[in-house]
Amino acid sequence: MKNRAKCKLCQSIIESFHLHDHVTCKCGEISVSGGVQEYNCSANDWGNFLRVDDLGNEIIVKIKKVLRFYEI
Ligand SMILES: [Zn+2]
Repeated sequence: MKNRAKCKLCQSIIESFHLHDHVTCKCGEISVSGGVQEYNCSANDWGNFLRVDDLGNEIIVKIKKVLRFYEI
C-alpha cells in the first residue's frame, strides 16, 4: 500500500514516494514521510487524517494511545 493520506480540513491528498520525501498538506494539518519503507505520518488532530489506499478508498485510522500512570 502507498504512503498516501487525505486531510479532512483542506481535502488535499498527499503522498510520500521515497524515504526522504516529506509532504505536508496545504493547511499544514497532516504530513506523511518515509515513503513505503518507513511509512511515517503525523497530524495535529488525528480526526483530520484519512489514510488513502491504492484503490482510492479512504480509511479512518485508529490511534492507539499508551497511557502510563505513575504512583508516588
Ligand atoms: Zn490540510
